[in-house]
Amino acid sequence: MNMKYKFKTVLALIVLICLCIVSTGCERQIVSEPISKTEFMMDTVITIKLYDSKNEKTLEEAFDRLRQIENRMSKTITDSDVSKINQNAGKNPVKVHGDVYYVLKKSIEFAELTDGAYDPTIGPLVELWNIKEEGENEVHLIPEKEKIYEAMNKVDYKKLELLDDNNVFLKEEGMILDLGGIVKGYAADEVKKILKDKGINSAIIDLGGNIYAYGEKPKDKYWKIGIQNPFEFRGSYVGIMSVVDSSIVTSGDYERYFEVDGKRYHHIIDPKTGYPAESGLSAVSVVTKNSIDGDALSTSLFILGREKGTELIKKLGNVDAIFIDKDGKTYISPDLKDKFELKNEKFNIINNEY
Ligand code: ADP
Ligand code: MG
Repeated sequence: MNMKYKFKTVLALIVLICLCIVSTGCERQIVSEPISKTEFMMDTVITIKLYDSKNEKTLEEAFDRLRQIENRMSKTITDSDVSKINQNAGKNPVKVHGDVYYVLKKSIEFAELTDGAYDPTIGPLVELWNIKEEGENEVHLIPEKEKIYEAMNKVDYKKLELLDDNNVFLKEEGMILDLGGIVKGYAADEVKKILKDKGINSAIIDLGGNIYAYGEKPKDKYWKIGIQNPFEFRGSYVGIMSVVDSSIVTSGDYERYFEVDGKRYHHIIDPKTGYPAESGLSAVSVVTKNSIDGDALSTSLFILGREKGTELIKKLGNVDAIFIDKDGKTYISPDLKDKFELKNEKFNIINNEY
């Protein structure tokens, strides 16, 4: 082997080794996945992913807190604070945990803000309609008008009294609290608090579509959150939203519903009609700083519809929204224009100027 040839071989080997180092370097970064935990809780699939920590114990702690929130605020767990309030409706006030009192206080604020479109005492109507996951409703009937009227009369947030010393009273027998439209948002905020306390600054907290994209995504900065296509199965997106440290919550008529004669009856009830809300929307996504606001607002805006909903977010400030109507018209807030990338041509973007 002559010198020139040998030199070339050595050079090639060096290049090859360098390439290997570079590629394993890359590989190491790709391999450095976030740690993640998933559990079924709060009637949904919950996933928390930590991007700047390997601390499994923090994940456990976050899930412990979620379990605690569910055990206090679920209306189907018979010894929860919320159930105790419901069991004592029209009879006695009930002393509850501070966090339950806080969520109830917030829920009354949203009821007032939305003129009762959002109502934490919606329970009697929710139970009457009994709308569950798709497929669980094979034999499902539309409730009789009389029964709807009866249930409507039991819905009134003004009869939910927050007394001193964390005591709560539902003033009429038969009234039922239901925090399903706000509790996941509260829970997401609580998880964020735990992570922050542990010095974690980069995470995805996903409570069945109620998402907190916490901090910045390592390297890319922006989290890319898919906005679900309300007309297709899960995992098909209208577009992608790029956000930093924000809550994104979606309410839609496609999550829980049944159909009778081609008409869809879904789980977001308009307290003013007693029927599933018909505001012309199929979905609404709300981007906020706090997830409790986002959750209560997503439910509220879905009921209010685009026009009244737009007025409300304009009044509130610091709230951005995407309204998708039944024809696929997609109205987006001015601040989201540059953050939202359309991925499906069946949807028409309209700037919701205000
Ligand atoms: P999801 O929790 O299914 O993602 P939402 O946040 O929109 O969707 O909450 C819907 C839930 O809120 C319903 O399942 C019910 O428990 C409750 N709910 C329904 N209608 C109302 C209403 N008008 N006001 C307050 N809560 C409601
Ligand atoms: Mg909600």
